[in-house]
Amino acid sequence: MRICDNRRVIALIDSHSHIDAREFDADRGAVLARARKAGVTQQVAPAIAVSWFENLRQLCRRESGLHPAYGLHPMFLAEHRPEHLDVLAEWIERERPVAVGECGLDFYIEGLDRDTQYEYLDRQLELAREFDLPVILHARRAFDEIAAAIRRVGGLRGVVHSFSGSEEQARQLWKLGFHLGIGGPVTYERAKRLRTLVATMPIEWLLLETDSPDQPLSGHRGERNEPACLVEVLDVVAGLRGEPRERIAEATTRNAERLFGLV
Ligand SMILES: [Zn+2]
Repeated sequence: MRICDNRRVIALIDSHSHIDAREFDADRGAVLARARKAGVTQQVAPAIAVSWFENLRQLCRRESGLHPAYGLHPMFLAEHRPEHLDVLAEWIERERPVAVGECGLDFYIEGLDRDTQYEYLDRQLELAREFDLPVILHARRAFDEIAAAIRRVGGLRGVVHSFSGSEEQARQLWKLGFHLGIGGPVTYERAKRLRTLVATMPIEWLLLETDSPDQPLSGHRGERNEPACLVEVLDVVAGLRGEPRERIAEATTRNAERLFGLV
């Protein structure tokens, strides 16, 4: 495995990392050490289902710089039960996480009932508003629908992670107070539309993420992704915008700190 280039820059925040995933069980300590060495000093770690909450809570207590979010991910719909929404509400109230999520809509994977997805999403958006927390959203083939849901509930802020929609959809989202999470996909040259958007969008709505262990970067295909690779995402974003990497690092770190209340 070629480990990501880790020239140190100012402290970076991986705004979307599944560091609690089983893929990291064998060497999580080394993965975290590489991230810190690369300057990725903080990570926001969103849960995917109730069965993961306790593990995630313990991991984030044990390790510095890890911030949990709790939510019910649409790809794991088969695991969720209506009463899990009550469990989630209790966890949010008790644990005061940095965000609600990961939740959202996935219209790409077949067999995920759309009405059921909406039921879980709407309640989680309401919880975010109720507890005045940002929300971490997953949207696949559903950017207009996610914007409509945000609008319907109202009074929300957050991030649509791994954004891959159009410029118009992006604009709708940041007008609603939502950031765009940018990670591995932007490192692929063929991602022309996404790269143009990242080159021109207002920096105040941009967050860097890896989505580890998923979405490996260009040049790392088939490998497990890890938070240290955030530095390569940073370099690509800085290159596309023609700006110094330090400036992009500082701005995106500030964005994440502000959104998730990390300072
Ligand atoms: Zn995720």
